[in-house]
Amino acid sequence: MALTVLKYGHPMLRQKGARIEQVTPEIKRLIGEMLETMYGARGIGLAAQQIGRALQMTIIDLREVADRPSTLEMKGEPIEIAHFMPLVLINPQVTPVADPVSGPEGCLSFSEIYAEIARPESVEVTALNEQGERVEFRCGGLLARAVQHETDHLQGILFIDRMTREAKEEIKPQLERLQAETKAALKDLGH
Ligand code: ZN
Repeated sequence: MALTVLKYGHPMLRQKGARIEQVTPEIKRLIGEMLETMYGARGIGLAAQQIGRALQMTIIDLREVADRPSTLEMKGEPIEIAHFMPLVLINPQVTPVADPVSGPEGCLSFSEIYAEIARPESVEVTALNEQGERVEFRCGGLLARAVQHETDHLQGILFIDRMTREAKEEIKPQLERLQAETKAALKDLGH
């Protein structure tokens, strides 16, 4: 079942996710629902907070992106990205291993809002996968950007927090409108 993607202004997006101690059948079902939701929204990444669960879990699938390259290495060996997708990261730890580069970013919780964001060009990642197995890899390009964007969500950090003051100023009217719409919808629901 596809779930509703929460929009900017929903307090859940600011919640830090709890660690997942065990990959239970319930967590596996949630992963399935998150994948369906992400594909339905034509997104390339989705964090648990975005579907209303404050957990350390995110999913990524870059197979539909042809024009923005990524690199991936496991144990020093290059890996074909497509073989690693969809990527499920549980309790991820991310360590930057390169200088920041600027690149365009969007987010399913911020319809129609895009901005250039500077992030380290490559990162090392340790996480559990959907089987509860430990995975370690190093990635660069779009995958590194997606991993950082998604793991930020798990800490309640949003891409607008990474924008320059000037970039954020430029989209301020859109942000305020989106936030007001989300708050009004929550009020209607009696929250
Ligand atoms: Zn996002």
